[in-house]
Amino acid sequence: MKNRMIELLSYPRQMLHDDIDLVSCLHAGFYDKQDRGCRECENEAQCRWLSANDKFVALERKPVRDLAQSLAFVLDYMNLRIGRWGHDPNVCKCSSCCWFCEASDVFGKVSPIQRPCNPVVLESMVGLA
Ligand SMILES: [Zn+2]
Repeated sequence: MKNRMIELLSYPRQMLHDDIDLVSCLHAGFYDKQDRGCRECENEAQCRWLSANDKFVALERKPVRDLAQSLAFVLDYMNLRIGRWGHDPNVCKCSSCCWFCEASDVFGKVSPIQRPCNPVVLESMVGLA
């Protein structure tokens, strides 16, 4: 299960990375929690996630709980993207929707909070989390 979670974290990593405006970043995308500029940056959440879940980070040494938290973040992130595209992950077979369904399924098995593969329901949960 842990290996599956680590695999699932790799798919949204590139998308998050592409989303960050590296041109105006003083650290070339390397998150620095000591830097006020980083903490107040509009990409703070994405950047922090990327630095904690980089492919060079030893994710296999992290507890399942931490990986589930990382997965929860990208599930919310992907959910918003899929919603913006107007895709329905229950029907659509694109790589993002397939990832979303599988990640929701895995997350549901490791987390007490059940996340249905339904972006409408998820959208209302984002604000509550
Ligand atoms: Zn899709």
